[in-house]
Amino acid sequence: MVVFTGSATEANNTAILSALRAAPQKRRIVAASTEHSAVITMGRAQESAGYELVLVPSLDSGLVDLQALAAAINADTAIVSIMWANNETGVINPVAQVSALCRERGVLFHCDAVQAAGKLPIDLRSVQMDYLTLSGHKIHGPKGIGGLVVAPNAPFSPMLYGGHQENGRRGGTENVPAAVGFGSAANAAMAELNNRSRHVASLRDELESRVLAEVSGTVVNGFGSPRLPNTSNIGFTGVDSDTLVALLDLRGVCVSSGSACLSDAVAPSHVILAMTGSYQKASEAIRFSLSHHNTADEIDHTVEAVKQAVATLR
Ligand code: PLP
Repeated sequence: MVVFTGSATEANNTAILSALRAAPQKRRIVAASTEHSAVITMGRAQESAGYELVLVPSLDSGLVDLQALAAAINADTAIVSIMWANNETGVINPVAQVSALCRERGVLFHCDAVQAAGKLPIDLRSVQMDYLTLSGHKIHGPKGIGGLVVAPNAPFSPMLYGGHQENGRRGGTENVPAAVGFGSAANAAMAELNNRSRHVASLRDELESRVLAEVSGTVVNGFGSPRLPNTSNIGFTGVDSDTLVALLDLRGVCVSSGSACLSDAVAPSHVILAMTGSYQKASEAIRFSLSHHNTADEIDHTVEAVKQAVATLR
């Protein structure tokens, strides 16, 4: 079943709460250290209620460490939450292996697929998951709508109590226009998946290869790992990422120094920190997130803007 929510954040929270409520004796939540704050902050918030959040380390590649994940799952584990693809690096986790591990151990598996949807084929008949999170605006649908796909046998309990909307799964009048827009965006994303991916991957590759060739001291975080076609996370040695973001903004280029949802945070990216173990590297990385609407001219403009901004800052 699909439960429409007000955001992917709400869907992530609802999945985790559903699992915790279904097995109150189990006190452990396992998640990747590179998860979105909608999972990590949610898990942390449960600690005051006696839960334990175990964050599984990332490999240098950005992939979740499967051995560490296996070691983290114990009899006390209520849910494992591992994202399909990372929002800052685009690195794609081995979700089929995570799913198999969770099945073997009899643990519920939640997957935040917000970034994967619309960019990768998602077939829930071939990868089993108990909960899958989606977001409208990440697939060019409206803002303010998310979705939680719940497997037939997975426990579910509402986050919002009220009327009988959504068959009692979420109280409150449904946001029908947003749900329709979300559905329509999902249809278009599925029909256009290959074309969009091909186009955006060629722009992203052009951006990366030019920045690496034309700006010294640059590294692509997650390079060599399976990645989404639209995301590039580049580290600029000796350059403060927040200042670079501000300079690029003045040149009409919108990028972020971590998750866009945490753009007012002073801490460096927790994702790059988890991958590199270095605060320095985490504070020198910026995320370029492209869409199929971008053009080759915009890539030219971006490369020139990056070159000028980095030269100013070094
Ligand atoms: N999960 C991931 C991986 C995301 O990238 C985002 C948004 O950036 C979210 C969750 C939260 O989405 P929403 O803004 O719909 O709550």
